[in-house]
Amino acid sequence: MSKNKHPETIALHGGDYRSDPATTAVAVPLYRTTSYQFNDTDHAANLFALKEFGNIYTRIMNPTNDVLEKRVAALEGGLAAVTVGSGQAASTFAIMNVCQSGDNFVSSTDLYGGTVNLFTHTLKKLGIECRYADPSDPSNFEKLIDDRTRCFYAETLPNPYLRVFPIKEVSDIGRKYSIPLIMDNTAAPVICKPLEHGAAVVVHSLTKFIGGHGTVIGGCLVDGGNFDWTKDPKRQPLFNEPDASYGGAQWGVVVPQLTGANVSYAVRARVVLLRDLGAPLAPDNAWGIIQGLETVPLRMKQHCSNAEKAVAFLQKHKNVDRVIYPTLHKGEIGERSKKYMKGGNGALIGIEVKGGVEAGKKFIESLKMFYHVANIGDARSLAIHPATTTHSQLTEEELLAAGVTPGYVRLSIGIEHPDDIIADLDQALGASGKPSLKAVS
Ligand code: PLP
Repeated sequence: MSKNKHPETIALHGGDYRSDPATTAVAVPLYRTTSYQFNDTDHAANLFALKEFGNIYTRIMNPTNDVLEKRVAALEGGLAAVTVGSGQAASTFAIMNVCQSGDNFVSSTDLYGGTVNLFTHTLKKLGIECRYADPSDPSNFEKLIDDRTRCFYAETLPNPYLRVFPIKEVSDIGRKYSIPLIMDNTAAPVICKPLEHGAAVVVHSLTKFIGGHGTVIGGCLVDGGNFDWTKDPKRQPLFNEPDASYGGAQWGVVVPQLTGANVSYAVRARVVLLRDLGAPLAPDNAWGIIQGLETVPLRMKQHCSNAEKAVAFLQKHKNVDRVIYPTLHKGEIGERSKKYMKGGNGALIGIEVKGGVEAGKKFIESLKMFYHVANIGDARSLAIHPATTTHSQLTEEELLAAGVTPGYVRLSIGIEHPDDIIADLDQALGASGKPSLKAVS
């Protein structure tokens, strides 16, 4: 159903779902069950031995989650997906599916603050080292590789810099060494497809644009099915050495044999990581996210078009020192938005309000329609001051490396009418500086 279809169609009809096989219900039903009755003991044994695929237990799979997984995989152009309880769990699983103690991976410096904490502190305590590369020069990734480097990691459209990541350039470097590129595409669903540019895995916080209504936390890993996990067995031991926890399975070898598809990464994440670490997405939350997913292509168009109008307005405003948006970067970095952002340049905008921290705070407090929240990708317009909130656990050095200056305000432009968005920005900017400031034409 999904092959050659457009995102608007996939979002509504994708995921091998036409109607519920048990009831013929058209809307995806919510399967609130922990377990599934086996036909007989052979059936149960075959499911556990992966000789047959089917439902065992909701920590590992669920029919509602299954539709969501297949639809997100289809939207990204991947082969399979695994949902987890949050975007943060998705990032954790993404790394733990390829790295074990003593291994390292190379990540872009342009990252969500929560991911920096995970990579710099928590994974380090587990013996997994993150090496940071500045993505302005893709060759920085190559310089940090050694024989225990297992993957590259980056975000498509990371704030605060909003520099579009050089996906093909870095993925090409990785593929020379059998190192997969894992892309967090949370900020750019539908508008960028990292797998088409060589990424091997896509990670999403479904909490943001895909859920889209600020109601549900969730995450997802998408296996692109385009990476050979067995090409260099020493590079990817978790896919080539026998797994003592699963009857000696060599995941890179056995999964294609059993399924006929190159989905070893997704299957290992499901049957090893979800089995052992837990953190599944609750079916209720999967159902909630499906409601958002069905309209995400439509919403992304409106998010992007509204953001462009807001950028044009903010650039001319005399109370704004600087506007950050993917298309405003000069040179090669600006060119990357043309190369990779095929459906628009996203909803996120950064601004430096004239007058530093105090003016930034005043601006946020004066917004009447925008919500002041730690979130992005809601249908409503949102604003936050990262230095004192989302990035507040970072050191001053880490803040600067992440590009979070004291006066920086992040906007996530919603799908309201653009005139109303601009009117709210205008009145709040007026309040942030001298009285009765107006946008200058
Ligand atoms: N990745 C990005 C780019 C994010 O912005 C976030 C959250 O803000 C996450 C991952 C983590 O997602 P979640 O909040 O669903 O755990």
